[in-house]
Amino acid sequence: MKTADAVVIGGGIMGASAAHFLAKKGFGRVVLLEKGRLAGVSTGHSAANVRTYYSNPITLELAKRALHMFENDREALGGDCGFRPVGFLLLIDEGSRAAGEHILKSERRHGIEVERLTPEEVGEIAPQLSLDHVEYGILEPRSGYADPVKTTEALVEAGRAWGLELRIGVAATGIRCRGGRIVAVETEDGTIATNVVVNAAGPWAGRVGAWLGLKYSLRRSRESDLFVELPPGFGPLPVVSDPRLRFYLRPQGDRIMVGLGAPKEIEPVDPDDCDPALDPATRDRIERALFGRIPSLASARHLGGYASIYTITDDWHPIVGPEPAIEGCHAFLGGSGHGFKLAPPIGEALADVICGEDPAIDLSPLRPSRFIDGHPLTSAWGEGNRG
Ligand SMILES: Cc1cc2nc3c(=O)[nH]c(=O)nc-3n(C[C@H](O)[C@H](O)[C@H](O)COP(=O)(O)OP(=O)(O)OC[C@H]3O[C@@H](n4cnc5c(N)ncnc54)[C@H](O)[C@@H]3O)c2cc1C
Repeated sequence: MKTADAVVIGGGIMGASAAHFLAKKGFGRVVLLEKGRLAGVSTGHSAANVRTYYSNPITLELAKRALHMFENDREALGGDCGFRPVGFLLLIDEGSRAAGEHILKSERRHGIEVERLTPEEVGEIAPQLSLDHVEYGILEPRSGYADPVKTTEALVEAGRAWGLELRIGVAATGIRCRGGRIVAVETEDGTIATNVVVNAAGPWAGRVGAWLGLKYSLRRSRESDLFVELPPGFGPLPVVSDPRLRFYLRPQGDRIMVGLGAPKEIEPVDPDDCDPALDPATRDRIERALFGRIPSLASARHLGGYASIYTITDDWHPIVGPEPAIEGCHAFLGGSGHGFKLAPPIGEALADVICGEDPAIDLSPLRPSRFIDGHPLTSAWGEGNRG
């Protein structure tokens, strides 16, 4: 039987972050199991927006740390993560006024750089937008977006030097426990003796938890994005989030990626049978929202799109931390549609917890038991992935 100091199940951004930071701390041999491709599921399809407009203290602190990490990706994340600090602009209308004020105050209280823009100032930085119903803008000048695949690969590649071992195409098939303690992970390629396991299996995390009798309340929802070619001379855009028309866009060279924003319906999906194609009805909803805000793009070329998966917890925040009933078992799951940017700082703090140290950011508000304790997280935005 092979042995490892820790086994991480799932090679998305969450598993890669946990494995990277555990290895970096000198935990020893850290095996990262990925049954398919690295970043092949939710992570690889992520818009990978890196923004800080959160409304509760833990997520604000994590997002602030995340922005610092992406700005310093080579040192903090092990390599080039394709981070583009194009700015992040929130368009505040009457319906989002209260949340907007809360966000401005919260970001400033946490020392995050943020600006309140008049509609005229919004028009200056994004003249392509129609500003109907926009009362003001919130601009995070340092935010932007990253490349989710490059980020995951950078974390794994850098981790190899410290003992991270990636096993691609190898599924975990079970977890063995003795006397309330993890003793091994079973895989398609044999058993690995270990006392530490991290469940970062994304849409399959509920299934992995069930091997140990753990129940996570997770919904898996189909989530789509599409691409639109920008006409020549269109000019630069920041990432834009539009709560009124319920969509977001982010630039990417000569195109923009566009998706629906919260609140949106849950579209239940089986992760073993998720059609990756963008369906016509969703395309139509995304395009109607986009063309409402940028009418000049109505004749622009559609460049295709895709569908992937959100894994959503009951309060739309990740579930992270030790499972008290099973020594050595740690949850890192339920990205809830905004987990990409949060994964590196959470992975960093979780590695501290696993090593028995106090993390710089206290992860206990994300603990698995918070729902039974009656302490789910709340958001000024209400339900959804704005957090
Ligand atoms: C369309 C879309 C847009 C998004 N936009 C943003 C955004 O702008 N900003 C943001 O912060 N977040 C965003 N998110 C959310 C973010 O991408 C996710 O929260 C995050 O990628 C989840 O990472 P993960 O590692 O938990 O899951 P995944 O990336 O799904 O990885 C889980 C991995 O576990 C593997 N696995 C499962 N079971 C096993 C097993 N038994 N053995 C071995 N391997 C296993 C799977 O193959 C998979 O690769 C978006 C998500 C989507 C879908």
